[in-house]
Amino acid sequence: MTSEIQSILNKKDPGYEDIVTLLKCDDEQASMLYRKAAETKEKYVGNKVYLRGLIEYSNICGKNCLYCGIRRDNHQINHYTITSEEVISAALLAHRMQFGSIAIQSGENTSKVFTENIESLIRTIRKLTNNELGITLSLGEQKKEIYQQWFEAGAHRYLLRIEASSIDLYRKVHPDDELHDYYKRLDCLKAIKETGYQTGTGVMIGLPHQTISHLADDIIFMRDFDIDMCGMGPFIEHSDTPLGKMGTDNLFLRERFGLTLRMIAILRIIMKDINIVASTAMQTIDPFGREKAINCGANIIMPNLTPDRYRANYRIYEGKPAYSEIDDQNVSGLNMELIPGAIIGLGAWGDATHFKSRRLKV
Ligand code: SAM
Ligand code: SF4
Repeated sequence: MTSEIQSILNKKDPGYEDIVTLLKCDDEQASMLYRKAAETKEKYVGNKVYLRGLIEYSNICGKNCLYCGIRRDNHQINHYTITSEEVISAALLAHRMQFGSIAIQSGENTSKVFTENIESLIRTIRKLTNNELGITLSLGEQKKEIYQQWFEAGAHRYLLRIEASSIDLYRKVHPDDELHDYYKRLDCLKAIKETGYQTGTGVMIGLPHQTISHLADDIIFMRDFDIDMCGMGPFIEHSDTPLGKMGTDNLFLRERFGLTLRMIAILRIIMKDINIVASTAMQTIDPFGREKAINCGANIIMPNLTPDRYRANYRIYEGKPAYSEIDDQNVSGLNMELIPGAIIGLGAWGDATHFKSRRLKV
């Protein structure tokens, strides 16, 4: 088996069966996979870890995803939308701390007030930072005109996770209605790419009913969609949601963690020059989860810049940190001793090289 893993790792284009084998490998074999992913990262994207200061703009969501703690039917949360002044001050803090970019994330809201506020925030932030601060959006499914409007205002990256690339699995973790339509989400992803954004997607790992074949298909989906960025992470239960009602099995959480590291490493080997996020959900399962993800191929982290008073109410899953992990002395919140050779990429957008080469091909 060990030599089988090595021969897969030597292949130019590992296929579906190879991915399944890699996902199933044991911990000793996984260390070979992680080493290969680290070498690939070093060769194609270098050793910098880029920062996207995360601003969790609002927890008001019109959707009802069965896994998410801020779903419409969870009445246990206090709703908020951060004021424009607070968003701008968080963005200016990111700029001062030399974060290359911010990422604005929110529950899904398609109202005119919401879309216009976002547009105005993008314009103001770009102006106040002399166009130096990059802006990533993760604001769910919107009309193509809205994606265009925000792009013209100055946002240039968009992250919309497909959540599960299998239609069957997607349907098992979402309500069965028009608002949660797999093909609509796919069309949005296509619209984002056509608009000109650096396009990111991703999946949750460890969802109920999910199999290794689903995960292998997820990797193939991301490869074939030719994404520029990936944000994927373990699914973690939230007890006020339909999928979280049964409680968390800690042993299984560790398995999800290991599978996520394997998914990151395999994706790095297959899509060499994309950006891959080390997610906060990894840190929730293991205090050094992000550092481990970086050692396995990830190169982006999203330190939270949401003002403290809102954080407890953006609890999409149980155990999500509600404290500040960064300060003047450590802008990333990472333990650098655990990621030998890595450097924090300050003052740079850290765009995916993949995006540049993809644009050249068009
Ligand atoms: N509303 C937007 C959307 O759904 O694209 C952006 C915000 S949403 C909270 C961001 C991501 O959180 C989702 O894409 C989903 O993958 C993740 N998420 C939601 N509930 C989760 C859970 N219980 N465990 C892990 N990740 C979760
Ligand atoms: Fe809303 Fe996004 Fe959560 Fe779904 S995952 S309920 S769209 S915030």
